[in-house]
Amino acid sequence: MTGKQLVVFDFDWSFVDQDTDRWVFEVLSTKHRRLLQDRKSGGGTGIQCTPDVVDQTMGDLAQAGYTKEDVLDALRILPLHPAMKRAVLGLKERKPDTVFVCISNSNQVYIQTILEKHGLTTLFDTIITNPAHWSTSPIPNRLHVGRRLAASEPPHGCTIGCLANMCKGAELDTYLASHGGRESFERITYVGDGGNDFCPLLRMRTGDWACVRTPGFELEERIKNEGEKAGLKVDVKLWDQAWRIDEYFQQL
Ligand SMILES: [Mg+2]
Ligand SMILES: [Zn+2]
Repeated sequence: MTGKQLVVFDFDWSFVDQDTDRWVFEVLSTKHRRLLQDRKSGGGTGIQCTPDVVDQTMGDLAQAGYTKEDVLDALRILPLHPAMKRAVLGLKERKPDTVFVCISNSNQVYIQTILEKHGLTTLFDTIITNPAHWSTSPIPNRLHVGRRLAASEPPHGCTIGCLANMCKGAELDTYLASHGGRESFERITYVGDGGNDFCPLLRMRTGDWACVRTPGFELEERIKNEGEKAGLKVDVKLWDQAWRIDEYFQQL
């Protein structure tokens, strides 16, 4: 590949080897991890919007006395595989015309903290995720997590099954439209694992690459069950650990 290319990363279980939302609570408090779990399953009222339940549980965590530093320290020990770092830095060095973008249902504070810890703050051209900020009152050190698409905004209207707060396919379209259009990139490579990574893959074409995590991840299941019917054209490359991404990236 000689021209400009785009590499899009999902974050949780794709760029990093964990789910950021669960990890912080798992590291700090079993009680709050349980709260998150129960809220996520919605107590029988269906799946809840992820940033909403993380925000609510962050409030309880701060109320219980956990500090901003506790949360940041938990993020700083979240596993990012050295081979993933090698994969992205190697590709950037070999092909400086590669543009990296992150589209994630995590949040700004989590992603920035982890990238800072690993010296990767300049890697991504754009990070598309849920907004987050710290407040000092009424509870000090409370992290607020919002929705990328606020509940007050018109819904994104996606019929592929994206959560209310973000349609990753629409986000990819918007990014491309504001960066010269699809034609300005020779190839798009997408690295993902989750059910909400299926929608953006439908916006991609033959010759683009979808690096899909296996085994037992939801994206692979959706591709198997819905890919043909939905007209999926992208070339699927399976990976289980980061060193496989490094191998694929060496072919880009
Ligand atoms: Mg993921
Ligand atoms: Zn969608």
